[in-house]
Amino acid sequence: MDDFDSGDDLFDDVNADELVTKNKRPASQGHATPNGSGDSHNGGGSNSKRQRLDVVGVAQKLLKDKFGYDSFRHEQEAAIGSVLRGENTLVVFPTGAGKSLCYQIPAIAFADVDKLNGENRDFSGITIVVSPLIALMKDQTDALKRKGIAAECNDSTKSFEQLQEISADIRNGRLRMLYCSPEKLNNEGFVESLKYVPGGIRLLAVDEAHCISEWGHSFRPDYLKVARFVDEIKAERVVCLTATATPRVADDICKAFQIDQSNVLRTSPYRPNLHLEAMATSTDDEKIPLLLKYLESHDGSTLVYVTLQRQAEVLAARLKSAGHSAEAFHAGMKAEEKSSIQDRFMASEVRIVVATIAFGMGIDKANIRNIIHFNTSGTVEEYSQQVGRAGRDGLPSHCMMYICHEDWYIKENFARGDLPSRASLEGLLHDVFERETVKGRNGEEVIKLNHNELSQSWDIRASPLSIIFATLELRYGLLRAITPEYSSYQFEDRGFYNKMAASDGSPEAKAVFKHAKRARKWYTFDIKAAMAGGLSRADLVRKLNHWSEAGAIMLKAGGVEHRYRILKKLPSTHTQYKKLVSELHADMEGREEEALRHAQEVVDLITGKKCFAATLAEHFGIVAAQTPVKVNINGIKKILEVCDVRDDPRFLARVAFGIKSPRVTKLKLQNSSVFSSLEDHDFQSLLKEFTKACDEA
Ligand code: ADP
Ligand code: MG
Repeated sequence: MDDFDSGDDLFDDVNADELVTKNKRPASQGHATPNGSGDSHNGGGSNSKRQRLDVVGVAQKLLKDKFGYDSFRHEQEAAIGSVLRGENTLVVFPTGAGKSLCYQIPAIAFADVDKLNGENRDFSGITIVVSPLIALMKDQTDALKRKGIAAECNDSTKSFEQLQEISADIRNGRLRMLYCSPEKLNNEGFVESLKYVPGGIRLLAVDEAHCISEWGHSFRPDYLKVARFVDEIKAERVVCLTATATPRVADDICKAFQIDQSNVLRTSPYRPNLHLEAMATSTDDEKIPLLLKYLESHDGSTLVYVTLQRQAEVLAARLKSAGHSAEAFHAGMKAEEKSSIQDRFMASEVRIVVATIAFGMGIDKANIRNIIHFNTSGTVEEYSQQVGRAGRDGLPSHCMMYICHEDWYIKENFARGDLPSRASLEGLLHDVFERETVKGRNGEEVIKLNHNELSQSWDIRASPLSIIFATLELRYGLLRAITPEYSSYQFEDRGFYNKMAASDGSPEAKAVFKHAKRARKWYTFDIKAAMAGGLSRADLVRKLNHWSEAGAIMLKAGGVEHRYRILKKLPSTHTQYKKLVSELHADMEGREEEALRHAQEVVDLITGKKCFAATLAEHFGIVAAQTPVKVNINGIKKILEVCDVRDDPRFLARVAFGIKSPRVTKLKLQNSSVFSSLEDHDFQSLLKEFTKACDEA
């Protein structure tokens, strides 16, 4: 689920040389000048303690004047002070504690702080905020704008004209804050444009910074590129923000951004108003009457977390039929539907939202009374973040986790499905490295590919696939992702497309009209074919956007083409391939073990807590120490009969265990009787049996 921004086309037009000449800054105001560095004109020996107080004074005044709050909470003041002194800083506050102010206040304080430091800058520079949550960025920038703070985000919902205005504001130093998604960092034009901001990049804020850590619960490969981004745009300082406090994650973040232990600011995640409970059942079905009873006896806004999208829908329907006000929420739903449900939940018009992990990051509703885990969380951090959404108003709130063996099975299923076989990896690498290259803008070699297609051809799920590419990029330095392109655009006629096209005599309009073919409802515009006529991609996209804004068409981008610039000689010999495959595979095996360990930790957490009923401990003893089922040889034979795959034992084991993958879908095996026929088995023993069978074949 990549969110590529259509605004990418805009930044492709930015000419770096032009920017340099337009915005020549006197050397003394270069953004490489660290705040308060050695020879800054401090107006003669103002002692540093006094100055520190003054910095805090500036921050306090802004807190009152711009945000209307009287005092800082928790460690906010310390965090803001650290950032304003130029230190790289890590802020670990639970959700709702107020992390945003830790970069919003510095962003608008630099002008005053520079004066305080005796620095006479023409421009006070910009703060960049990297955040994975597009909806949230929009809310935040809207709120900031209402306070008179020049903040923008350049996400895909912006029109071409809006994006152009934003980039002009960046170039002219008019913007204080710019929010962007981590995917945007793959856009070379964007990265380039930030090198020439008047006053420089004063601060880079990395929100949800746990995404940078492979040990976090929501690792995003594109986040790994943030550290490189800091160097490239010469950000003066960095503040990372997260609610996830495990030492390993914090350690990863500190390493990536050279954050000193003394600049790690934490507040305790302990919330005395939350009642945490758990209950064990034998099956998922048994949970439903328990949940219904629970909802009767616990009033107020309620989030029910489930693991699978389908479960969210089924359970929401079940609650509705029992007379509750309930809606489902998951990543597979349409954007409008999701935001409408979120709004109605915020306004307490819907009492219960049954959601996957997709719901809740950044939800700021103070009076959520109940958080129910219909399925266990994948990790302890995930659990603590999710329950942290209850009772922000300080009033008593209840959290209940239901757990049964099926939950454990699903977690294992997730983890094991992410590890590709060696053969898959090897096939993938050959496919990618031996592709015909094209020449990039500056004559460099570029590989074009589509993650979706690769995922299908090599039977590797989307998320491990993107991790593989990030590894090839950051660890091996073989490739570098550059702006993806859309190979086609689709649009719907809103009633006057034909009229619009007919009255527009431009070559772009004619090309769109010629190369857009209508199926039943949607037109598909083959942009490649139109470009072959000598027109530029940017002009064509501009035309489409223009018609879309005028309301003549409804536009959506089509197939994405990922592009990678080749940075050094790619592996070519058998030995080189073998070595790379085994390193990548070992890496991913480690990740699989880690995911399983995480799931086990959730079980340990519950069983280890005194406040959970003692009977639970017994039950979990059973969950944790299951005796492996003896391998059913007939079952194995049956699978080998139905499925003639012999090149990938792991694939066969997955079929037996019931783990879906692109290849399973392609061979239509998920509906066959053998799929998940051995789900009660130990995965490793299945793998052993099928390896034997494949070796014999
Ligand atoms: P986080 O990112 O840590 O989850 P937010 O930054 O979204 O939390 O802040 C949560 C809420 O707390 C926001 O409504 C914010 O305006 C409010 N808030 C933050 N700091 C303060 C403060 N010092 N005084 C009062 N309210 C605050
Ligand atoms: Mg936040």
